[in-house]
Amino acid sequence: MTSKNQITIAYGDGIGPEIMNATLNILEKAGAQLEYDEIEIGEKVYLQGISAGIQASAWDSLKKTKVFLKSPITTPQGGGFKSLNVTTRKTLGLYANVRPSKSFHPYVATKHPVMDVVIIRENEEDLYTGIEYQQSQEVVQCLKIISRPGCEKIVRYAFEYARAYGRKKVTCFSKDNIMKMTDGLFHKLFDEIGKEYPDIEKDHWIIDIGAALLADKPQMFDVIVTLNLYGDIISDIAAQVSGSVGMCGSANIGENFAMFEAIHGSAPTIAGQNVANPSGLLNAAIMMLVHLGQPAIAAKINNAWLRTIEDGIHTGDIYKEGISSKKVGTKEFADAVIERLGQLPQQSAPITFSLDDKKDLKIKTKTYPVKTKTLVGVDVFIDWKGNPEEIGAKLQKLNVENLKLQLITNGGVKVFPGGNVETSCTDQWRCRFMSQGENISNQHIVNLLGIIHDTGGYDFIKIENLYNFDDVRGYSLGQGE
Ligand code: NAD
Repeated sequence: MTSKNQITIAYGDGIGPEIMNATLNILEKAGAQLEYDEIEIGEKVYLQGISAGIQASAWDSLKKTKVFLKSPITTPQGGGFKSLNVTTRKTLGLYANVRPSKSFHPYVATKHPVMDVVIIRENEEDLYTGIEYQQSQEVVQCLKIISRPGCEKIVRYAFEYARAYGRKKVTCFSKDNIMKMTDGLFHKLFDEIGKEYPDIEKDHWIIDIGAALLADKPQMFDVIVTLNLYGDIISDIAAQVSGSVGMCGSANIGENFAMFEAIHGSAPTIAGQNVANPSGLLNAAIMMLVHLGQPAIAAKINNAWLRTIEDGIHTGDIYKEGISSKKVGTKEFADAVIERLGQLPQQSAPITFSLDDKKDLKIKTKTYPVKTKTLVGVDVFIDWKGNPEEIGAKLQKLNVENLKLQLITNGGVKVFPGGNVETSCTDQWRCRFMSQGENISNQHIVNLLGIIHDTGGYDFIKIENLYNFDDVRGYSLGQGE
């Protein structure tokens, strides 16, 4: 008798409880050796006034079990509430989100009979840090934060994953034609690290055409590695074109913790109707069993699930006359899988897993030489209503030691000196002050801000220091600069 693995579970919101009940029922009947520690997350917790959507005590369970099987939750819209998914991924260091999408032609209607793609989504950075501000009447902003260790970890993970699972190619998606520093770093590290994997084919697509090709010709892709937001979007596209967003599970992997969940959300409009497809969470649970070292049980469930799909027993999202044989609800689908435990699919290749499939991919990041960081200027953002010539002329006249106004941009486009009257301007002005060759320090910037406030009478709302690293510019130029 194998000893039981303790895991943390959460039933979540919307269709969460239904798909979790169906999944746990199958796990139990298949003989999974699991003990459950249940925690409360999501709407109920938010409504108690806990903005993170998770009780402080729930972390004790997660830190003890280290493995989390999670149903989707509803994140209330509007101010004050933080995404529990983002918080969990960040808190537990779950840096890699692995999302396989496969078509099951001819048993599930799909636009793409040949499709078997694994999307590896960076899980901790990007716009998902949720750092947002309103700084003026007209402008709000969200910070896109990308780090070198963050990019390096996920890119290495993707290559290691491809090697470990016998995949042939890793494709990078980014938007580095526009975001040259953030997405540019991701792409650059992909190219650099890729050289260490000569056995793996690699290529890069700009995300817009990449997403279009994924929807149109998914057979072009094998493993895709990308940044957080793009990964979120393209994994829904991939799942939906493979058959249904309700089919795909995901593994969120960190050094010490792992979380398994369906890729879809809480689908509130179909909640409580016994119609949701539990396959996404079930496929996540299969990945979890492999991770826990219960490969035989994982294979038994996977084969029974494949047989159910082949037999045409389908939930509403994949039911199609002429292909499906019976439309069933969530519970009945689970019963059909349970009835088939011990059977193999008749057409698809049966699945086998072994203890070797529990791949403990240890990712080591490199140490990079420290570069010389030189302060060369500052962007001062000012909340002001008026025209660029007026503010430009006034700021140019300020008597500031070692710093001189170089240009003003609005929405990233140069409007002073020599702007274009057609450029539409908001009330947020980025005023770039550069050193004129002298060494400057933070004290010069403090003095500048004092003068802008006292003499200029302007409301500065944010600053960004401008640095060179080993004499290479560490900030983007304004459009038209
Ligand atoms: P969704 O994934 O919940 O639903 C999108 C569409 O797919 C809907 O038409 C839905 O009915 C259908 N669908 C989803 N899962 C299905 C299933 N298992 N079976 C059959 N049909 C299914 O996305 P949404 O509507 O954008 O989001 C709803 C809520 O879920 C939001 O509050 C969102 O924040 C949350 N969400 C949570 C997670 C998570 O907890 N990991 C992920 C995504 C969205």
